Amino acid sequence: MFTAPARILIVDDTATNRLVLERMVAAQGHSSMSAEHGAEALALLRCKDFDMVLLDIMMPQMNGFQLLTKMREDPELQHVPVVVTSADTDIESVARCIELGASDYLFKPVDRRLLEARINSCVAQRRLREREQAAYMATLAAHQERNEFIALVSHELRNPLTAILVHSEELQFGMLGQINDDQTEALRTIGMLIKHMANLLSDLSDISHIESGHLALVYNEFNVSTACNMAVQVVAQAIREKEQQLSITIPAGLPNLRADLMRTVQILTNLLNNASKYTQIGGSIAMSVRYIDTGMLEFEVQDNGLGISAADQRHVFDKFFRAPDLEARKETGTGLGMYVTRLLVEAQGGAIWFKSSFRVGTTFYVTLPAATQPRDGDMVVGLDGRALMSDSRFPPL
Ligand code: ADP
Repeated sequence: MFTAPARILIVDDTATNRLVLERMVAAQGHSSMSAEHGAEALALLRCKDFDMVLLDIMMPQMNGFQLLTKMREDPELQHVPVVVTSADTDIESVARCIELGASDYLFKPVDRRLLEARINSCVAQRRLREREQAAYMATLAAHQERNEFIALVSHELRNPLTAILVHSEELQFGMLGQINDDQTEALRTIGMLIKHMANLLSDLSDISHIESGHLALVYNEFNVSTACNMAVQVVAQAIREKEQQLSITIPAGLPNLRADLMRTVQILTNLLNNASKYTQIGGSIAMSVRYIDTGMLEFEVQDNGLGISAADQRHVFDKFFRAPDLEARKETGTGLGMYVTRLLVEAQGGAIWFKSSFRVGTTFYVTLPAATQPRDGDMVVGLDGRALMSDSRFPPL
């Protein structure tokens, strides 16, 4: 079998053994360096690239076992194949070396043909790993490039989209002159499509940041009702348009959240928005929060809407998943909302799950870390500064 010349490190405390191995290795067309003990070998391994190590076990300073242990602990060295060279009376030590990660062994005096076979197999193993590593790095770089491109494009498109939306609303609401019913309807559709595009861009940008590990979370302590109020304000119009009932229950005495406020609002908005989208006109949505003794706050967003079929439930958090349910498909969507929501919840140390019954309704649960333990007598203060009583209910919209 043809293999490219290998770079081999020979580790042996006996000069004659090193010399014999160096000559055999050279005769087989490979290059080698030698070390007298484990410590010297480790120093060489850390500054030079070797395809394999031929390792004696019993050596002063650092023996073969210790060198193997150090190599396995080092992510840069743990994949370098090691072939142990030992006397055939020392089976126990060879077995221990294999348990410590050595790939193979050779008994001394080393047989020329067996050495050649071991080198060939180790080098093939090494080359395969190098190719896999190169492919992995190339994929990583391509992902990084794609993520940067998406982040840039979504950033560049967001500003003009906002301006288009503002102008189309000015037109729609007659601020730039009277328009007829058909024009109003056309502008309403334009507005809806722009919002859809803006949501898509925002989800894509979030995904690219999260997947490339660049999501910047700003942790703060804040009141649960602050986050709930902000989310409700975002979805209020949609809920009103569908004449749905929304009730929110926040018990008094809840601890603050310790999370990213804007991301928490985004999580709750996504859940409320879906609850409204996938619930019929006149349906009901209920949001509640409770403290659980694991130091987390649990949000519950319940609707009595379309529900999700048993077959579709396992895909809800998949990227781009939209249930094939024709009723649900009447609503616009990208299939990215729940994927992003799950990433945002998990990035903050929380969890998300749901229960759903087809044509009965869906309840999503999200946990996020609480800042402190609950204290009796604490009051939750609403955005308007009013204290909310225990089990207080926000008035239905
Ligand atoms: P979309 O942009 O389509 O709303 P999401 O990622 O937010 O995408 O949700 C994925 C899919 O899960 C939706 O298309 C819908 O089929 C289903 N889904 C999510 N929330 C609900 C809900 N509250 N009730 C019924 N179906 C839901």
